[in-house]
Amino acid sequence: MNVQPDLDFIKYLKGAGGDTLKKCYQCATCSVVCPLSTDDKPFPRKEMIWAQWGLKEKLVADPDVFLCHQCGDCTAYCPRGAKPGDVLGAIRAYSYTHYGWPGGLAKLASSAKGLPMLIALPALVIFVLWVISGGMTIPSPETFSHYGYQQFFGHWDFHWLSKNVFFIDIMMLPAAGLAVFAAYRGVSTMWKAMAANAGMESAFRPSVLQFVKEFLWPSVLEIVQHDRFRECKTNIDRVKGHLPLMLSFMGLFTVTVWSALANDVFGLWIPALHGPMSVWNPIKILANVSAVALIVGVGILWSNRAKAEADAGATGTFYDWFLIWEIMAVGVTGLLAEIARWSGLAAPGYIMYFLHLVSIMMLFLYMPYTKFAHLVYRTFAMAFERYRDSAYGKNPLDQ
Ligand code: SF4
Ligand code: SF4
Repeated sequence: MNVQPDLDFIKYLKGAGGDTLKKCYQCATCSVVCPLSTDDKPFPRKEMIWAQWGLKEKLVADPDVFLCHQCGDCTAYCPRGAKPGDVLGAIRAYSYTHYGWPGGLAKLASSAKGLPMLIALPALVIFVLWVISGGMTIPSPETFSHYGYQQFFGHWDFHWLSKNVFFIDIMMLPAAGLAVFAAYRGVSTMWKAMAANAGMESAFRPSVLQFVKEFLWPSVLEIVQHDRFRECKTNIDRVKGHLPLMLSFMGLFTVTVWSALANDVFGLWIPALHGPMSVWNPIKILANVSAVALIVGVGILWSNRAKAEADAGATGTFYDWFLIWEIMAVGVTGLLAEIARWSGLAAPGYIMYFLHLVSIMMLFLYMPYTKFAHLVYRTFAMAFERYRDSAYGKNPLDQ
């Protein structure tokens, strides 16, 4: 076998949490203790040697890399201190940049060096829109207590669509659209690479409905129930943070969808739906409860991550911390903006609301390139695992 190592890839892995890579001497303890590895398709021992050899193309097309839940069991038991959990994390981080589109944005979001630009980009867009909107005034206490942030971008008398909603739409919809397209493009490229790697370029394919029913939906259910997370031993506490965080995202997603429908669709006939919303409105309550769950969940993950680095020797990377900071920023700025509204503090409230919009736009815009991307890549890797093990993954001539 002619091995052609990608030396830059090895260098990247070493700098992104895989610094202990070369210590591995292939004893396979990690594959034995990994609670998610199976007898017929074990990992992460094989990934360790592929990574040592710099076999980038094999690793970015390996579903097992995405099936790993970074529990750290393998790292805890490795007799050489090689931290395979961190190596797999570094490969995942590399994959999001590898599959990311546009490449420049994906690269920018992959390291701490890009952080000032990652913050400046949405901050500038929102500030410029705020200037263009002409809404650059801090409201009186009466206006603020009545309208809250509904006139952040000013007000016009066109009752079909409020000025605020219009400006939020023109910044958030393109950001979300770009993220969805980039994630779709990345996942479909990954899927093709996985199928080619597994020799599964079969002429027999399921219909879209069959694919969703037999492969995608069971994977989504498994993720929502956190079944695989619960199998981890060393870092079992992670489920206590990950679960409320995921539920909070589902709550906030419901709020966002309702707000979009209420403002952009139903609001065309019922202008009152453009707000402001009472704090006792069920949607508002769901938003506030979700914000608290989000802060609690990310707080637990924050403390677990810090503990794993201090006690278990896990490597702290920008990839791991950026998402934690980002989600914390969304939750804290949202809650502080809400508290400022209840307290009638318009100026601090407007500053918090501005920062809240910046953090939300960052979350949308950088979703396909940061750790947040595991949400889609892991879901499809789990669907691929089912697909690979199904009749579609078998050559009928071999049966
Ligand atoms: S990473 Fe550690 S446990 Fe796994 S094969 Fe290498 S030396 Fe053994
Ligand atoms: S971190 Fe956990 S899930 Fe990932 S390979 Fe190691 S033991 Fe398995």
